[in-house]
Amino acid sequence: MDSKPSRAVCPGSFDPVTNGHLDIISRASRLYDEVIVMVSINLAKRGLFTVEERVDLIREVTKEYGNVTVDSFRGLTVDYCKSHDIPVIVRGLRAVTDYDYELQIAQMNHRMSGVETLFMATAPDYSFLSSSLMKEVVKWGGDASGLVPELVHQRLIERLKDD
Ligand code: ADP
Repeated sequence: MDSKPSRAVCPGSFDPVTNGHLDIISRASRLYDEVIVMVSINLAKRGLFTVEERVDLIREVTKEYGNVTVDSFRGLTVDYCKSHDIPVIVRGLRAVTDYDYELQIAQMNHRMSGVETLFMATAPDYSFLSSSLMKEVVKWGGDASGLVPELVHQRLIERLKDD
């Protein structure tokens, strides 16, 4: 029997983490021994939050899950997987609009490395939810309840108040 712990990575921008992300992360944490949430560093795209801030927020809101850790990485996700001995990437699928893009990346990743991608269907409550939409809603004082953790809501308000 294989005694190695099963590991998966949930990669993304998480600018900032939403309840849609958390739903996927928590469900993945029930399927794998260890889940690593990896914030990808994209120097070409300036986010609302720095990578360090995003990592700290995710750490704070996932601390109740004992098997979830948070990291950041600049480069190909499959290279991160290789160096951390992770065979599976978990990605959330919201709607058909996610599908073409996700399929292309999953196939490229598999071709490059053999790393598998597991798609998890979003909970219907979150299928319309994205980080960019949350920034817009909070910026204009819209109702964010139930869509982002309270801590994230507060940070969004602070960050967007002078925008
Ligand atoms: P990226 O820029 O890599 O797409 P995101 O932070 O937007 O990063 O998303 C990270 C992951 O979380 C992706 O797999 C994405 O499909 C998933 N995701 C984002 N929002 C939701 C949601 N509302 N429900 C389920 N999965 C989601």
